[in-house]
Amino acid sequence: MASSRNGGIRGSMRPISGANSSNLRSSSFKSRIPSSAPAPRRSSSASLGGPSAGDNGVPGRVRVAVRLRPRNAEESVADADFADCVELQPELKRLKLRKNNWDSETYEFDEVLTEAASQKRVYEVVAKPVVESALEGYNGTVMAYGQTGTGKTFTLGRLGDEDTAARGIMVRSMEDILAGISLESDSVSVSYLQLYMETIQDLLDPANDNIAIVEDPKTGDVSLPGATHVEIRNQQNFLELLRLGETHRIAANTKLNTESSRSHAILMVHVKRSVVEKDNSISNEMDSSSHFVRPSKPLVRRSKLVLVDLAGSERVHKSGSEGHMLEEAKSINLSLSALGKCINAIAEDSAHVPFRDSKLTRLLRDSFGGTARTSMIVTIGPSPRHRGETTSTILFGQRAMKVENMLKIKEEFDYKSLSKKLEVQLDKVIAENERQQKMFDDEVERVTLEAQNRISEVEKNFAEALEKEKLKCQMEYMESVKKLEEKMLSNQRKQEDGKRNGEMNGFVATSELTHLKEVLENEMKLRKAAEEELNKFNNQLTQKTRSGEGGDAEISRLQKLLEDEAVQKKKLEEEVTVLRSQLVQLTFEADQMRRCLERGGPTNSYSGSDLLSSRQSQFRESMNGQKAPFATLCEQVGLQKILQLLESEDANIRIHAVKVVANLAAEETNQEKIVEAGGLTSLLMLLRSYEDETVRRVAAGAIANLAMNEVNQQLIVDQGGISLLSLTAADAEDPQTLRMVAGAIANLCGNDKLQARLRSEGGIKALLGMVRCGHPDVLAQVARGIANFAKCESRATTQEAGVRSGRSVLVEDGALPWIVQHANDEAAPIRRHIELALCHLAQHEVNARDMISGGALWELVRISRECSREDIRNLAHRTLSSSPVFRSEIRRLGIQF
Ligand code: ADP
Ligand code: MG
Repeated sequence: MASSRNGGIRGSMRPISGANSSNLRSSSFKSRIPSSAPAPRRSSSASLGGPSAGDNGVPGRVRVAVRLRPRNAEESVADADFADCVELQPELKRLKLRKNNWDSETYEFDEVLTEAASQKRVYEVVAKPVVESALEGYNGTVMAYGQTGTGKTFTLGRLGDEDTAARGIMVRSMEDILAGISLESDSVSVSYLQLYMETIQDLLDPANDNIAIVEDPKTGDVSLPGATHVEIRNQQNFLELLRLGETHRIAANTKLNTESSRSHAILMVHVKRSVVEKDNSISNEMDSSSHFVRPSKPLVRRSKLVLVDLAGSERVHKSGSEGHMLEEAKSINLSLSALGKCINAIAEDSAHVPFRDSKLTRLLRDSFGGTARTSMIVTIGPSPRHRGETTSTILFGQRAMKVENMLKIKEEFDYKSLSKKLEVQLDKVIAENERQQKMFDDEVERVTLEAQNRISEVEKNFAEALEKEKLKCQMEYMESVKKLEEKMLSNQRKQEDGKRNGEMNGFVATSELTHLKEVLENEMKLRKAAEEELNKFNNQLTQKTRSGEGGDAEISRLQKLLEDEAVQKKKLEEEVTVLRSQLVQLTFEADQMRRCLERGGPTNSYSGSDLLSSRQSQFRESMNGQKAPFATLCEQVGLQKILQLLESEDANIRIHAVKVVANLAAEETNQEKIVEAGGLTSLLMLLRSYEDETVRRVAAGAIANLAMNEVNQQLIVDQGGISLLSLTAADAEDPQTLRMVAGAIANLCGNDKLQARLRSEGGIKALLGMVRCGHPDVLAQVARGIANFAKCESRATTQEAGVRSGRSVLVEDGALPWIVQHANDEAAPIRRHIELALCHLAQHEVNARDMISGGALWELVRISRECSREDIRNLAHRTLSSSPVFRSEIRRLGIQF
């Protein structure tokens, strides 16, 4: 008998897991999972299986409590004269099983619950630790084992509808589970099954009456995928399910003609909880500088709490006693006996545990020797009549207490959830990145705009300041011009006064001079006569001396006479010296006076600076004997000093100086020196001096002279000469000034390199604009300029074919009508230049149409026929005959050509 294993009265008290009396007293049943290092794993194959076989588990023995049912009415009557077959010592967790009146055996359990134990206490002692474990992620099992009628269903399955205090373990477990989870992140679902004759029926779906057990070949986990899983949201939900299950159980048993005590009822509660790992290995793997918010490592714990109301245990021992066939009884009890065998095998550390022998043992594989926390309540009745059943129940419980489990948390890495989380995170980061990028772009745009605003503001301020400064300068300039004008007026007034006086003085001086000259001539004649007489005397004396006649007296007289004559001569010589100096003095004064008069005179053209054609001869003619004094002046004073005088504060000196420079510039030999010494710049500056028309005219003349030279032409243009000449051309009235300006521009027009600048800087417009003056001298210069320019244009066309493909600038600037109008001008210089200009323009085919429509063709035909100059005549003829446009027009008009 199994009871022999427990030895005698005292000897049967088997210390469990080295427990002493003190830790027996402490409610080890309630103890939480120890945190100490796990004990070495059992070598038994029973420990195999479980999802985390490689992990270290926590050892946890199967806990067993014994519960004694109070006597029922029948027992109270029938056994009234007998004592209970058991005596409980709950404080010592001991149970004494009376064999007879004098002998008893004592057993120790993890908990001994008397007939008075409340349902609440039973739950807390037996099931609550397992429920709490399940909430923490461990599998758990609570099962009731015992003879039919001892209170298994009472203990596990009471709903407590009529009396709350009567609520059984199933109801209370679910209450605690629902209280312990969060419905948002966790879930709980149940399956409710009945196992009868090795068939699993679904108590939640009676049609589903043969559910297969599926084992995961890798982990050994068993599951019932065919069973109905109902998710529990609240307790009411659950109670309804239990009721439904109970209804179905009764119906099924009626159909099978059996009793519920013959079947096992199994409630499976699946708890799924999400937990966040504190020590996050993922975050460690990530770069700490990363801007990603590290996702926590999501873990999911899936635990299974199995509550089993086993079939009555009496069948094991009394099979067939209730009228069943043996085989049938065997089949009915197969699961229960298999459970006993398995528990025995584990308890005895057997190498083989026959889990596969029955469906119950397959389902409960994890509960015995597996990874679950398992509690068993063995229920017994008090009746001595059932001593045998009670004894076997107690021994079953005792054996079960030897089963050592290795508790393991059912935790998995939640890849799905992690991936979902990471995706969410990634989306967040992408969105954030986009926002940041947008912010950055906006910021860049804002800064750019601000910078642009600032720049434009600064530019505006600068422009305003510039405008102010310009206005100020203009005001100052006007002021100084005004002052200069006033000064000029007063000078003019002075000059007019001086002129009036000067005319008088001049007259006096001239007459005095004439008189002095006459005196001097007389004196010189006298002196000459005296010299001749002296010579005569000397000759006579010589002859007398030779003749030898002793005329000492005569000699002395003659000698005396001679001496007198010598004295007279000396006197005369002195007088001549004085007169000469007076003459020089007077000449100088008269010159000064004359110049003074000239300044006032309106007709004084400084023709010496006229470079046109015979400028040098003209210069010499006009200056008469003055060339010598100028050359001398230049030598004596030095060019540099004269140029400095151009900037003298004294207007008179400036005028004087500019004339001197103009005269010097008329000489080709001086031009280079003048330019080298900076004279060109000074002359250009003088073009803008309005104080005196003479200054401008003379300066323009000097520039025109300098503009003869190709090197100087470039220099004039580089120093802004075109604009200065153009400005002068625009505001000068004096025809002689305009003539000089036109002459200067005309010279520039002859330079191939200056064509573009002459146009762009307004030279051509200025030249053409000067025809307003109407003076033939001016018109001649304009015509010369046009001819020069047209010549250069035609040269550019023929030499660099295609470079200048457009119409002539002259045509574009509207010069053609004037050219045509003056083509037959009565003034020969104008006519000649215009004729040449027309020939040059006609050489460029692109001008032909404009020329034809402007009437130039008639002029060209005329030139080719009647021009007095043969070369021009021939040129016109050649030009017309080589142009297809002109030729066809001539043909069209029927002109004889
Ligand atoms: P089993 O499920 O083991 O066959 P039941 O739970 O059906 O036994 O109990 C049989 C009877 O005993 C029921 O009427 C039940 O109410 C009663 N009973 C069982 N245990 C107790 C108890 N601890 N206190 C009072 N009555 C009990
Ligand atoms: Mg029952």
